[in-house]
Amino acid sequence: MKYGRKRVLVTGGAGFLGSHLCERLLAEGCDVLCADNFFTGVKDNIAHLLGNPYFELMRHDVTFPLFVEVDEIFNLACPASPIHYQRDPVQTTKTSVHGAINVLGLAKRVGAKIFQASTSEVYGDPEVHPQTEDYRGNVNPIGPRACYDEGKRCAETLFFDYWRQHALRIKVARIFNTYGPRMHPNDGRVVSNFIVQALQGQDITLYGDGSQTRSFCFVSDLIEGFIRLMNSPDDVTGPINLGNPREMTVRELAEMVVRMVGSKSQIVYRPLPADDPLQRQPNISLAKEKLGWEPKVPLEDGLEQTIAYFRKVVG
Ligand code: NAD
Ligand code: UDP
Ligand code: UDP
Repeated sequence: MKYGRKRVLVTGGAGFLGSHLCERLLAEGCDVLCADNFFTGVKDNIAHLLGNPYFELMRHDVTFPLFVEVDEIFNLACPASPIHYQRDPVQTTKTSVHGAINVLGLAKRVGAKIFQASTSEVYGDPEVHPQTEDYRGNVNPIGPRACYDEGKRCAETLFFDYWRQHALRIKVARIFNTYGPRMHPNDGRVVSNFIVQALQGQDITLYGDGSQTRSFCFVSDLIEGFIRLMNSPDDVTGPINLGNPREMTVRELAEMVVRMVGSKSQIVYRPLPADDPLQRQPNISLAKEKLGWEPKVPLEDGLEQTIAYFRKVVG
């Protein structure tokens, strides 16, 4: 930062995570430029920020070049829910790969520090459990999830090549399942699906037998991890896991949501989608060591806040 406020570009800033990040950056005194093509993001997520003179919204698709002057870039643009990223899989790969090339080119031109929202999906259906950053993953390169998983893997490759070749300052976070207010009611991910179904008294759709596991991180914990990673010393490039290590089966989650909502919904079984990972749990030793970070919000508290949000939106 040369003078005044730090200018920060957030791609995908109108999405679930992006909107929370924009809010946090504004609270820290940054000048925030939010770029989004509204593929899955919505203006309602950032409508409350539009009156802030240090917040600027631009409709932009990251697969096209972008010429702006900024000090830092958070690259979050990419649909994250399987039903959305599989709707136009070619566009999903383009978003990750062409998007990464464009934001990296931008970072190179202006000398900006750049953060990539990578994912636990780079580990695929993991044979190593819990997952550590040195595990190289088990991804089906031609399956229905590949547009997302391989796109994100290629984006990581590009980040590390720009780092080696052009000495860019990079920060790569591998994000594990995160939930909270502002997930879209039709997002399709498990936490929002179960809460909306429970609130509306619909059947709870459990895919497979529900024995597959996930580990759920509340959004405020994750955003704290983003900020700490971005502000860490330059030699901390990642990739670094950010997530909550509390692992549970999807069936346990369904039962917990039904209980907390006080719903009469019944659990019904649906086929397990192709290539759905059987287990997932982050090893966060590296984040603890390098960033002094670990999640603080217990699942019960985070779910309470998320249920309260959805009660207002759909209840
Ligand atoms: P989201 O779908 O709510 O947000 C993604 C945002 O990117 C949306 O606002 C969407 O409109 C925008 N977008 C999509 N394609 C774009 C394009 N071509 N150009 C510009 N904008 C585009 O999802 P989210 O949960 O907020 O995820 C944000 C990022 O974090 C994604 O990159 C996702 O892969 C990553 N991530 C999220 C999770 C999670 O559990 N939430 C886990 C791992 C990784
Ligand atoms: N790019 C961009 N904004 C910039 C600078 C570059 O969007 O401010 C794009 C540019 O269009 C190019 C990509 O980033 O397609 C990669 O840029 P780089 O300079 O690395 O490669 P080159 O331009 O040599 O292909
Ligand atoms: N899932 C489910 N019912 C739903 C939505 C998802 O049982 O209505 C399961 C899904 O099959 C997966 C887990 O919940 O095993 C997490 O799914 P999500 O789409 O949230 O994230 P991801 O699979 O990308 O981790």
